[in-house]
Amino acid sequence: MQYWQKEIETMPHKELVEFQLKRLKETLHSAMNSPFYKKVLSDSNISIEDIDSLDDLQKIPFTTKEDLRSNYPFNMAAIPLRQCTRLHSSSGTTGDPTVILHSAKDLDQWANQVARCMYMVGIRDEDIFQNTSGYGMFTGGLGFQYGAEKLGALTVPAAAGNSRRQLKFIKDFGTTCLHIIPSYATRLAEVMSDEGIDPRKDTKLHTICIGAEPHSEEQRKRIEELLGVKAYNCFGMSEMNGPGVAFECKEQNGLHIWEDYTIIEIIDPITLKPVPDGEVGELVLTTLNREAMPLLRYRTRDLTSIIPGDCPCGRTHRRLARFQGRSDDMIILKGVNLFPIQIETVLMQFKELGNNYLITIDTVKNSDEMLIEVELSDLFTDDYGVLQTLSKTITRQLKDELLLTPRLKLVAKGSLPVQEGKAVRVKDLRKFN
Ligand code: ADP
Ligand code: ZN
Repeated sequence: MQYWQKEIETMPHKELVEFQLKRLKETLHSAMNSPFYKKVLSDSNISIEDIDSLDDLQKIPFTTKEDLRSNYPFNMAAIPLRQCTRLHSSSGTTGDPTVILHSAKDLDQWANQVARCMYMVGIRDEDIFQNTSGYGMFTGGLGFQYGAEKLGALTVPAAAGNSRRQLKFIKDFGTTCLHIIPSYATRLAEVMSDEGIDPRKDTKLHTICIGAEPHSEEQRKRIEELLGVKAYNCFGMSEMNGPGVAFECKEQNGLHIWEDYTIIEIIDPITLKPVPDGEVGELVLTTLNREAMPLLRYRTRDLTSIIPGDCPCGRTHRRLARFQGRSDDMIILKGVNLFPIQIETVLMQFKELGNNYLITIDTVKNSDEMLIEVELSDLFTDDYGVLQTLSKTITRQLKDELLLTPRLKLVAKGSLPVQEGKAVRVKDLRKFN
């Protein structure tokens, strides 16, 4: 059996759309019970009877992160708190925190969503699944935990950090699958190499789920090579439960987004109009089966595109392209717009370079400059002449990609800071920050 829920995963798209419309109407009914949406829908004179097709969704205003913040903590609840069984809250490091509420049914649906993703990449009940995410408020912990339990795998809730302990678990328990953020996957591979562990010979790892932060195709290939595994891109966000929103299948050709759970729109973030398939824009999502806190047309700020065409795996749920980052990750330097992932794509092509890099932007003598520091891999020489030539080659490629010339500094392995959790790749020290 190839599918977790064959009927729904392979449902012809036309039927899927009918199914979505039915669920959308149910969602609108429950959204009306939240003080926030009651006001939004009545202010815009929308009654549920006006929604006859998915296109009518466009009559409904967008929901933004600011709405979540200004309705903190419970003003968006659509059921009494007595019926809610968990909340997740964002850290609030970039503003006031946000809260997402879940009922027991919501949590069960979420676990099913994650189990479906894990099954899709070949994880089964005989697998031993180790989760290296922080537990607690970060949804990558509990989200994967309940998904893997629903699937029936033996779970190892190792949680974040302590690489030597992670490695001991991997070896002693015969861990076959991991959930790990990409920047930590390369770090763990380095620790393995320092400890003289060969992942192909000394571990049973075969499949890993990597996500929670933007990463390039080159980085994925590197992780697969370093750990001797297949690595699948997984996307999620706490506002949409957490992990499980979209996930690659074994074809590794884009991320299937589960359309029985969400309605997808991709919009131009400036004009707010839909963009055609294949064109990059901001992902906007409407939840379809959440009772505690439905979200309508939520602007994720994540930039991606819909990949046209069918997937050979037989799943009919559409595919999203690898995420470029969030609209707020975009760096504007000397009038040029660029994303950190473009830089990573160039750097990761050089086997002479290690896995850690840092981009610093600052104003030097009234001019904005970009400095890229990147660690060398330990395979490489310290011969000055060779390093000079390498540096010139990389700078030329960066210039071709970015259309501006950054300052490049090759540094020794282990000299850049390592973060716990999501990697911080950019430091913008310009005055307006
Ligand atoms: P926070 O908003 O505090 O970072 P989340 O854990 O909810 O907390 O993060 C969700 C965000 O992480 C997404 O909106 C997206 O920007 C990023 N993200 C998650 N998975 C991926 C992925 N596979 N590729 C790129 N970015 C991702
Ligand atoms: Zn597929």
